[in-house]
Amino acid sequence: MRTRHGPKIDFNYCNGCKQCYDLCPDDVFGWDDANNVPTLDYPDECQFCCTCELNCSQLAIDVVYPLYARLELKMLGNEQGAKA
Ligand code: SF4
Ligand code: SF4
Repeated sequence: MRTRHGPKIDFNYCNGCKQCYDLCPDDVFGWDDANNVPTLDYPDECQFCCTCELNCSQLAIDVVYPLYARLELKMLGNEQGAKA
């Protein structure tokens, strides 16, 4: 399944520590035993707590908020809603 929000993982940096899998309060991550990396099984269940991102020692995870939240929080920078 392809989604635009939720955790994005850069597998170039992932070291397989499993912190994201162990700490996520929802059922977002699965685990690929063969490659020792997380899988994104249910990204739509992400509640954007950022626990995975904050606990990834490799900085391999970037939690992307949904568009409505980014607009509300003015996280899109100058191109969207960030008037000085
Ligand atoms: S916390 Fe980061 S380094 Fe550890 S398994 Fe998850 S993505 Fe990989
Ligand atoms: S942001 Fe929170 S709910 Fe979403 S995948 Fe990361 S730990 Fe799970």
